[in-house]
Amino acid sequence: MTSATETRKFTAEVDQVLHLVTHSLYSHKEIFLRELISNAADACDKLRFEAIGKPELLAGDGELRIDVSVDRQARTISVRDNGIGMTADEVVANIGTIASSGTRKFLEALSAEQKADANLIGQFGVGFYSAFVVADQVTLVTRRAGADESAGVRWESAGSGEYTLASAAVPSRGTTVTLHLKPEEDEFLEEWQLRSLIARYSDHIGFPIRMPKLKDGKPTGEWETVNQASALWTRPKNELKDEEYRGFYKHLSHDFGDPLAWTHNRVEGTQNFTSLLYLPARVPFDLLLGGRDERKGLKLYVKRVFIMDASEQLLPAYLRFVRGVVDSDDLPLNVSRELLQQNRTIDKLRAACTRRVLDLLDKLAKDEPEKYATFWNAFGSVFKEGLAEDAANRERIAKLLRFASTKSDGPAQTVALDDYLGRMLPNQDAIYYLTADGYAAAKGSPQLEALRALGVEVLLLYDRIDEWMAGYLTEYAGKKLRNVAKGDLDLDRLAGGDAAKRKETEKSAEGVVRKLKELLGERVRDVRVSARLTDSPACLVLGEHDLGLAMQRLLRQAGHEVPASKPILEIHPAHPLIAKLDQETDTVRATDLALLLLDQAQLLDGGVLEDPAAYVRRVNALLV
Ligand code: ADP
Ligand code: MG
Repeated sequence: MTSATETRKFTAEVDQVLHLVTHSLYSHKEIFLRELISNAADACDKLRFEAIGKPELLAGDGELRIDVSVDRQARTISVRDNGIGMTADEVVANIGTIASSGTRKFLEALSAEQKADANLIGQFGVGFYSAFVVADQVTLVTRRAGADESAGVRWESAGSGEYTLASAAVPSRGTTVTLHLKPEEDEFLEEWQLRSLIARYSDHIGFPIRMPKLKDGKPTGEWETVNQASALWTRPKNELKDEEYRGFYKHLSHDFGDPLAWTHNRVEGTQNFTSLLYLPARVPFDLLLGGRDERKGLKLYVKRVFIMDASEQLLPAYLRFVRGVVDSDDLPLNVSRELLQQNRTIDKLRAACTRRVLDLLDKLAKDEPEKYATFWNAFGSVFKEGLAEDAANRERIAKLLRFASTKSDGPAQTVALDDYLGRMLPNQDAIYYLTADGYAAAKGSPQLEALRALGVEVLLLYDRIDEWMAGYLTEYAGKKLRNVAKGDLDLDRLAGGDAAKRKETEKSAEGVVRKLKELLGERVRDVRVSARLTDSPACLVLGEHDLGLAMQRLLRQAGHEVPASKPILEIHPAHPLIAKLDQETDTVRATDLALLLLDQAQLLDGGVLEDPAAYVRRVNALLV
């Protein structure tokens, strides 16, 4: 870089973010201070980490800190840190462009919705730009730790389209960000105002945040620390107020809302570590973006030194909504991502964190069912993946599942398997469930008729992943789970042994069954008298080991080849349509009726008809 001042344009993305941030963060404008302090703290964390291998980086100035000051005359606020600092290239890369792919996805999602929510913006590391909510001019002066005095950089921008960059002599390492306040933002020139913002948002930052010490309103030339300055999780539980836990969560997660619950534990013995894990109350944006691969939110510290975001190493994917901190005394400080991949301490930490989260969920489910319902609505469909992913905890996970059922109101998923067990009929020995594409389809399915008439509860599974999940949940508390659309339901026993009557019905329906088999031919595997139906004329049933129809559709949509397992058509002989078919002597009309029955059964199962026009023609023929 030349020593002259150079003017550059922001990338289009930065422009867009700046525009969004300044317009939508306005109602939360005071968070600029929290964001700048959090960047300063990150910079101190990074330096402390780098200094593990290169202690000389800290030379002469070992006490990492953040200084906040105000100049009333100049109408500026400065936030200064003696952390890692930046080279000119880093300034351009970090401040002049948007590096993170998350932010890019976020922007895409936003432009699709044309709506910016302050809440979402906060989650995407656009923190630095929040300075422009209150400032009409921002100056950043920085020097990388280890670099010469002359290698400093001065960056300046009014937040509209471009910035200037110049080299500068900077006497000590670290970064100073100076905001020149907009005319209407005088309130932030008040010292007490800044102190109260620091107390509210940044108290738990693990480095001292200092402000000039005043006496009778006059500066004394000394500094005083205005925050707790100890990492929150290292403090004893009984000294911490809920407010402090909530504040720390907001700092960690960039969520403006409160967490749903948290669990804070210190373990001593063969392993020594502290964990503080939070359940968010709503879905973080990156989770919606399918962030299975770029998981964030669980920070790994080793002996109070921040090492890296290690969500993937410390928690299984089905708990990826958890936010928090794990601080280990056992791992080496120079631990690398590769090392974390195959480290026994990490395996133990992971098992312990998983157990803590499950404990927290158990407690919530038991003591605060409303909060648990909030959790389930937000994260239930992610949590269910645990049945497949975490075989060791399958029973615990199953206990925490919630479903809609034929005995609950509406689509809300509120029924636990234990609730179900408690309501089972005396001679019932299976847990019945039905999968469908949506709640209405599940609730209206003809498969339920006989079970409903018998008073047997059926769980209604209508999430996309439910059918896949059910493959991993074959048994609970010694009871088999049974898909009501598969195989023989053994309803006679439930109904109290009406086998004789059933035999009789089957016998008298032999004629119509034979007729249907002939008419439908290759389209079905079999036709038989149903024990499932009480109202509808017919329904489709699968073999015990067939893939469910919804699953077959899902796989086909995803481009897989799925062997077509032909369904079995079950009929309800007492239904007038079946009687009509039985009596129909005209082959064309009989075929129409048979195909109509099959099509209807398919529709009720959420299927798509091969030839909808033919179906409509047949229905119309029947109507006239
Ligand atoms: P985030 O903190 O989520 O990464 P920000 O917009 O707050 O996003 O900051 C962007 C980047 O600018 C940071 O990741 C960091 O690399 C750099 N940065 C900002 N402030 C500082 C600072 N005080 N010291 C060193 N680097 C900083
Ligand atoms: Mg930041």
